[in-house]
Amino acid sequence: MVDSALSIDFGALLRAEIARQGTVVRGRDCAAQEVIFAQGDPGDGIYLIESGVVRISTLMGHSNSHALCEFGPGDFFGEMAIINDAPRSASAQALEPTRLMFVAKEQVKALMGASPALVLCLLQSFSRRMRDTNSHFVRELIETERLSLMGRFARSIVHDLKNPLSVIALGADAAASARASEELRQQARKRIHQQVQRLTHMLNELLRVSEGATQHALQPQEWRAYMAELVEQVSDELAVKQVELVLCNEPPELVLPLNVRRLDHVFFNLFNNASDFMPKGGRIEVRFIQRERELEVEVRDSGPGFKPGIVQKLFTPFFTDGKPTGTGLGLSICKNIVEDHGGRIWAREEAGMGGIFCFTLPLPA
Ligand code: ADP
Repeated sequence: MVDSALSIDFGALLRAEIARQGTVVRGRDCAAQEVIFAQGDPGDGIYLIESGVVRISTLMGHSNSHALCEFGPGDFFGEMAIINDAPRSASAQALEPTRLMFVAKEQVKALMGASPALVLCLLQSFSRRMRDTNSHFVRELIETERLSLMGRFARSIVHDLKNPLSVIALGADAAASARASEELRQQARKRIHQQVQRLTHMLNELLRVSEGATQHALQPQEWRAYMAELVEQVSDELAVKQVELVLCNEPPELVLPLNVRRLDHVFFNLFNNASDFMPKGGRIEVRFIQRERELEVEVRDSGPGFKPGIVQKLFTPFFTDGKPTGTGLGLSICKNIVEDHGGRIWAREEAGMGGIFCFTLPLPA
């Protein structure tokens, strides 16, 4: 008896018990879009669907109605009220002309009193529906999280694109100016070209991150030449923001295994963050400390420094503080890039000093 009850649908068993016990139930005809019951109404019984379609939905927040499921002929709904004696936890609405049978709570209880199989079957249906609803919500949550992640990515891209675009705009003006010398125009064209390349690499890096790719080729690169090119690339845009970039010592003459376009991203991000915190201009100092096994690069700015208690969280994805356009992705991407080079990155606080970031790159054996 119990085993067969577990494999039978509760709606079918309830119908059979109504017929067997001769219970007289009420019929109800609903027009399309008619609300059968609303969330919060008293839970007064179960409905069986003879024909038509019923949508169950629940309110999310104050006004958003969220569809949970739809039921058709042979299905039942409204069983929660019997189990927990509470008001309706969701609303039910007929989507088309619908014929229902209403079994009042007292009738259901009487039917169940005479049929333990009905009780078991109700519990089984209930737990199955709870499981379905849970997995529905988990799917929704994953989708919402994915969309919000995409939104944050989009904001981060827009923010990061602004710097190269402003340099391109300046370069375009200079290249088009009738008064500019041929030398100036050539310089402007070179800058535009560099910034377009930078935009392409930034977008490639974002694509790489969003695809979860992890393979990155490192090529031997002369550090001093690399730094010279980098300084040339960024000094214009920093100058626009009245930020002075100073190399406090000569970049050591080393050949390091680098992915230069990705490492550019680390510098761009540290410089952009520093200038974001120095809206009236300031100074960024870069130092190089060569050790036996690694090169340490220190980037410090003359801004206000880190807010108390946040230094440990800076590299956590999505940690952002004090920046209206912040996404909290920049430093976590920097960390990935430095670690892909075999190095470490950290931030340091010094009383009365601005932000200090350090990262290492291992020297070839
Ligand atoms: P985002 O800049 O989008 O917020 P990041 O990961 O680049 O994301 O930075 C995380 C947080 O680290 C910033 O929101 C900011 O609070 C802090 N931060 C980063 N650089 C500096 C800096 N130079 N000075 C002060 N705070 C900084």
